[in-house]
Amino acid sequence: MTSKLPLLRKELFDIPKDIIYLDGNSLGPPIRGSTECADQVISDEWGQELIKAWNTAGWMSLPQTVGNQIAPVIGVSPDTVATGDTLSIKLYQALAAALSLRPDRRVLLSDAGNFPTDLYMAQGLIDTMDRGHKLRTPPPEEVLDSINERVAVVFLTHVDYRTGRVHDIEGITRRAHEVGAVTIWDLAHSAGAVPLSMESSHTEFAVGCTYKYLNGGPGAPAFIYVRPDIVTSITPALTGWLGHRDPFAMELKYRPSASTERFRIGSPSIIQFKLLELAMRVWEDVDMAELRASSIALTSLFIEEIERRCPMLTLVTPRDPEQRGSQVSFASEHGYPIMQALIERGVIGDFRRPNIMRFGIAPLYLDENDIVKAAEILEEIMKNETWRESKYQQIKGVT
Ligand SMILES: *Cc1c(COP(=O)(O)O)cnc(C)c1O
Repeated sequence: MTSKLPLLRKELFDIPKDIIYLDGNSLGPPIRGSTECADQVISDEWGQELIKAWNTAGWMSLPQTVGNQIAPVIGVSPDTVATGDTLSIKLYQALAAALSLRPDRRVLLSDAGNFPTDLYMAQGLIDTMDRGHKLRTPPPEEVLDSINERVAVVFLTHVDYRTGRVHDIEGITRRAHEVGAVTIWDLAHSAGAVPLSMESSHTEFAVGCTYKYLNGGPGAPAFIYVRPDIVTSITPALTGWLGHRDPFAMELKYRPSASTERFRIGSPSIIQFKLLELAMRVWEDVDMAELRASSIALTSLFIEEIERRCPMLTLVTPRDPEQRGSQVSFASEHGYPIMQALIERGVIGDFRRPNIMRFGIAPLYLDENDIVKAAEILEEIMKNETWRESKYQQIKGVT
């Protein structure tokens, strides 16, 4: 696949002038035309068509349409991705399905670097099932050696949300399958950030959200990939009417859809889906190898610039580009106020406790000038110790 457009697509995004946006790993910026898109749904579709729009505007099939836009980005075949709800819920569905596939096993293996909601959802499922399952969270580098015959499911986030370190999808999936365990890959920080070939990894499940590198908007629908050969052997944990084989038969008894659509639950959030559909069009022309090459160049440049200008900050992202996703993180005991001072200067990243400043590098709307400029501003803040001002010490609700 060769790209028909240059990789840098700044003109496709609505980012305020004078802002260098380094937080697309947390919430991607709006695609140009998002306002018109939402307005059209409200005025023309909902407003004019009212309930007819479920048929006339294709609302009912939107989750499938969007699933098929996501499929090539994560390297799977059409009609294998169901969309909707949130990542926490899609992960719950995958975990419940995985445990039902391995009823005699009791260990759920993740790692201590995983995003808390993933671990919370697992703990909640274990408590609800009340069948003596155990959650294990070794350090990331000990995961491979912790996979044994007692493990029902290995569920990991591919790119670590704090450090950007990547797990070896192929190697870990292979090891899990050797001992008969099921795998779930959380692609929250991978989809739209790195090339993925989930189908060839043979993983049973992959889940992810669409509001980070895919730019679907705050609270955009999540996705779940289920390996086609196991779909019909799973009864979903959350058996909603839209996962039913024939929702409008209004049967009293649940019969799952024959396809991945059985992982749908209830009514899709149409405005969000329309915005996501718009955002996903960008990916039709993106060559993921080219995106990766640009991501590596920009993250490497950022590391080089920051280390040279701000030696007091400690790199916590792997130096080897093959070992990291599309973000760079630095640790500092003053990370929070430093980030607040940066944001006030128009360089937006974020902070994760206890001491990590995160910078997401999205090559679709960032170039070398942005990277160098951001590094210059951070250098000034460190040199002048601007971050010491009391207004930067106030901890906000969302960091
Ligand atoms: C961002 C993120 C989430 C967020 O889950 P939501 O249900 O969408 O709020 C979950 N897991 C990981 C690994 C994440 O990075």
